[in-house]
Amino acid sequence: MAVLPIITAPDPRLKVRSEPVSKVDDDLRKLMDDMLETMYAAPGIGLAAIQVGVPKRVIVMDLSHDEQPPQPLHFVNPEIKWTSDDKGPYEEGCLSVPEFYEEVERPLKARIDYLDYNGAQQTLDAEGMTAVCIQHEMDHLEGILFIDHLSRLKRQMILKKLTKAKKLSASA
Ligand code: ZN
Repeated sequence: MAVLPIITAPDPRLKVRSEPVSKVDDDLRKLMDDMLETMYAAPGIGLAAIQVGVPKRVIVMDLSHDEQPPQPLHFVNPEIKWTSDDKGPYEEGCLSVPEFYEEVERPLKARIDYLDYNGAQQTLDAEGMTAVCIQHEMDHLEGILFIDHLSRLKRQMILKKLTKAKKLSASA
């Protein structure tokens, strides 16, 4: 397994719409293993393949608490089948938008169909943090970041600060 570099905004690759996976094979499982290792190292609770530069519809997540054993989740070709009318705000962050946390309003429950690590068809009925996280990650597959849900003013302020931080680290 390997820790992969995570792409941070602003970057045109994060705007790309990811392509469906045709087959869950060993190469794809290797990608998912690497993505999980990258996510745990960051540390984070979710990661989409495009965040490591791979435009495939693949997501990994782990919402277990520190004192629990790891509970890695793998989603290949996830599709939202249903969302609740009830919406609520949650504070979100993103490994591609480091150090910024903002409230985003999303449906509180969602049903997702997907293929698992072995390519088997699964359905997830998600609520709470799980629902927030999977919807956030699925946005990545469409080239959408959580800051795209904020006001233009707020988004531009964050992107300006991220650009500045990138320049500083590049010249360091
Ligand atoms: Zn994210």
